[in-house]
Amino acid sequence: METGGRIIDGKAIADGIKADLAEQVRGATATGQRPPCLAVILVGDDPGSSVYVRGKRQACDAVGMRSLFHPLASDTDEATLLDLIAALNADPMVDGILVQLPLPPQMDPRRVIFAIDPDKDVDGFHPLNFGRLALGEPGFKPCTPLGVMRLLRTIDFDPRGRLVTLIGWSNIVGKPLSLMLTAAGATTTVCHIETPDIAPLCQHAELLVVAAGHPGLIQAHMVKPGAVVIDVGINRLPSGKLVGDVDFANVQPIVSAITPVPKGVGPMTVAMLIENTWQAYSARRQVALVD
Ligand code: NAD
Repeated sequence: METGGRIIDGKAIADGIKADLAEQVRGATATGQRPPCLAVILVGDDPGSSVYVRGKRQACDAVGMRSLFHPLASDTDEATLLDLIAALNADPMVDGILVQLPLPPQMDPRRVIFAIDPDKDVDGFHPLNFGRLALGEPGFKPCTPLGVMRLLRTIDFDPRGRLVTLIGWSNIVGKPLSLMLTAAGATTTVCHIETPDIAPLCQHAELLVVAAGHPGLIQAHMVKPGAVVIDVGINRLPSGKLVGDVDFANVQPIVSAITPVPKGVGPMTVAMLIENTWQAYSARRQVALVD
């Protein structure tokens, strides 16, 4: 029997979301519509990126969406990538465009992300979509923070009025998640590498979200008993084992709920990408109906 805090099964929750999306895709294609289509660009052959891209493409297949794969050599110049993005922006059959990061050094990720049509920006990284998020307006939101918010909803954790501590201030996780949690009514404390001592800031948190990329960063004495802990970190130890940023073995017994690594936040990120692609497709179909 499981003792200690509930282990949040992110994989099962993500599978449920994908099953619902598969149903919606079936409904659309049964009426003669084309399936949604996600274009996936991978530059180079970084093994980690290749694994992520494969997982995202498999998830598309599993829900009946198309994925158009564009592998580019690692020495591709930026102009070639920008030309490909321009072609995908203009292609009416493409609903979403994903450029797997990181990019090789000859490419400026900002220029590349800015080039994606914001209406096809299913990763939610374009500054227009980030601005919409900051202003509380509809737009694509980044998948990992979106996945964290969905996990919280699934376990009936309402951030309203709660003290939340978030470790990490990156553009893809910490910054957007701090906006989402605060918009949901939390009082959000954000820590980063310059924070002198994160322990007291973690100890008061009813919800602790950790996205630092630092294995073992959060030890049991830093966690409020009964808190909810969401571990976004993914770190590969020299042994090959994947772990998060939280000392799971010692923290799980004292909390009310915690995500494992793997099978916690990771599968939710992919499910949210598929959901964003579905939304891009639905929005484009509505425009087509109005036209
Ligand atoms: P990043 O390196 O861009 O940002 C890390 C952030 O954590 C920075 O703001 C940094 O200041 C802060 N930080 C680092 N060490 C710290 C410390 N000792 N104390 C306090 N703050 C510290 O990383 P990222 O892209 O935001 O990713 C963070 C982690 O989440 C990584 O392990 C990454 O692999 C993982 N990740 C997981 C998913 C997923 O789907 N589960 C998605 C994206 C990233």
